[in-house]
Amino acid sequence: MFDIEDEAVNIGISVGIAMAPINGTRPDQILRNADLALYRAKADGRSVYRFFESQMDSDARERRMLEVELRDALKNNELELYYQPLVSAADRRPMGFEALIRWNHPIRGLVPPAEFIPLAERSSLIVEIGDWTIEQACRAAASWPTGLTVAVNMSAKHFRISDIAQVVKKSLTKSGLESNRLEIEITEGLLMENPDEVTVKLAEIRDLGVILAMDDFGTGYSSLSYLLKFPFDKIKIDKSFIDASTQEPAARDILKAIASLAKTLNLRITAEGVETADQADFLSGIACHQLQGFYFSPPLDSIDMPRYLLANVPTREAEVRAEVESVLMKRRASLGARPRTGLAARPIGN
Ligand code: C2E
Ligand code: CA
Ligand code: CA
Repeated sequence: MFDIEDEAVNIGISVGIAMAPINGTRPDQILRNADLALYRAKADGRSVYRFFESQMDSDARERRMLEVELRDALKNNELELYYQPLVSAADRRPMGFEALIRWNHPIRGLVPPAEFIPLAERSSLIVEIGDWTIEQACRAAASWPTGLTVAVNMSAKHFRISDIAQVVKKSLTKSGLESNRLEIEITEGLLMENPDEVTVKLAEIRDLGVILAMDDFGTGYSSLSYLLKFPFDKIKIDKSFIDASTQEPAARDILKAIASLAKTLNLRITAEGVETADQADFLSGIACHQLQGFYFSPPLDSIDMPRYLLANVPTREAEVRAEVESVLMKRRASLGARPRTGLAARPIGN
């Protein structure tokens, strides 16, 4: 951590190492192999060093092939959004969904985003994929029962190189989705890059009425200072804290502290990666607002999503019917001791 003109700047270093003559004898060979080792160092979480291994060469060839295939994935309709429910911690009812992208590769099967989003980010392909994701998610959410929100993950690179507020505005207008039903999730990595430019862009998005959420909260260096600096509405506590809370009292204390901090800053909290009833009960008890995780539901594809909505989101019609039934039940109970009236004898529903 360096103090540069009153700004705390984190500088990390990743190192890739290739040695002559075992990893090549020409300068271009050595540099290329050192670069592959550096790629691995970054993929392994950064701030580490890695020596070149011959396996890295075939991995690189594989990545290049996948990158070429990814270019066709959009136009071949191979990309799909899955939706994972975000439920209310209070009554466990769905409040919205997070859109999670999948690549249905014709030969490899379902490719997870962790594998292909970094590839898309190496080229401008991330712009096409990112634009498509926002548009699809808005269109889907506009067809859901009113009030349900949709959260979209935003790649730092897409955010940086696009006029992102314009992209969001266009998708909202085209779909007719109310802006407060769209949430944009961004990670700390984005905030570290060019804070002034990022602040302006985030403000533009927020001015549209869109909700801003900080994803993977607690995993970076400066999560707390970013909360003060940027206009977030919501934080998503990273799964690692939820996992640890099962075993470690200290993790439970950290979660309680985050919850009380969020309350002070008027931020809503979602806990992600909830896998057990105990975790869900603990998180509800410390006033988390929303819960998300396999305990409630995995991400749902286009077949399971309508089934889930039907089973878990009462339509207005069903709600009215339930309300009428409950009123009639109460009336019946109170009239039970008295002689029957016309109302008590009336059939329910329909
Ligand atoms: P994320 O935003 O932190 O998303 C949560 C990930 O955790 C998802 O993995 C989800 O399937 C998984 N998950 C949810 N609940 C549980 C649980 O209870 N247990 C466990 N073990 N896992 C759970 P997924 O879909 O593979 O996404 C991984 C990451 O890829 C996301 O992390 C996000 O950073 C990125 N990503 C996903 N979709 C998109 C997208 O459309 N655009 C961009 N730019 N990135 C995306
Ligand atoms: Ca997310
Ligand atoms: Ca996350």
